[in-house]
Amino acid sequence: MRLVLLGPPGAGKGTQATRIVDRFSIPQLSTGDMLREAVAEGTEQGLRVKHIMDRGELVPDDVVVSVVAGRIDHSDAANGFILDGFPRTVVQAEALDQELAARGIKLDAVLELEVDEDALLDRIRGRAEEAASRGEPVRPDDNPEVFETRLHVYREQTAPVTEYYRSKGLLNIVDGLQPIVVVTEQLAAALAALPSLQIRSEIQ
Ligand code: ADP
Repeated sequence: MRLVLLGPPGAGKGTQATRIVDRFSIPQLSTGDMLREAVAEGTEQGLRVKHIMDRGELVPDDVVVSVVAGRIDHSDAANGFILDGFPRTVVQAEALDQELAARGIKLDAVLELEVDEDALLDRIRGRAEEAASRGEPVRPDDNPEVFETRLHVYREQTAPVTEYYRSKGLLNIVDGLQPIVVVTEQLAAALAALPSLQIRSEIQ
């Protein structure tokens, strides 16, 4: 099962992706995590993207596309994956389609978590405060000013990706303001209703 998880920053994509990973045994491919790893390792790519991420802006499309293309070729992604944080632009969505087509595969579904902006701002303040109170490092881009930039970038560059997938008939929207377990159940229900999965379970 090949999935994309969409939603604004702070919508709970990471939390839900982890829960989908457990339930469906497919890896979570988070471009944010992959890029933060490159930064932590101090690779050439990491050094190039660090300041962009710290400002809450988007890393260039070609960089992220090549990171994802390399990652989906790993053996653990052979039976599927859930992409978290990618695609974030229509250019990335088109590039993903091409990369998948070149491998003879395609997406089964796109799941979107819908959360309004006021709720997102509350959440992100909470996330930064909780991490600080546990003595954990706070992500450099989890402060209110940078978060405003991330929301702006989302509105301008990522929101059109929703329409891209809607027009392809792949989009499933779930209200991300509900309790975590309810969101997971609704995402799972959307997946259970997918025609591609029903055909597969009839074959088995
Ligand atoms: P969020 O909590 O906003 O969903 P992520 O962990 O997914 O954050 O991403 C953190 C940062 O990494 C982004 O603000 C951006 O700078 C960079 N990034 C992650 N994914 C992409 C992408 N697909 N395209 C461009 N930049 C990305």
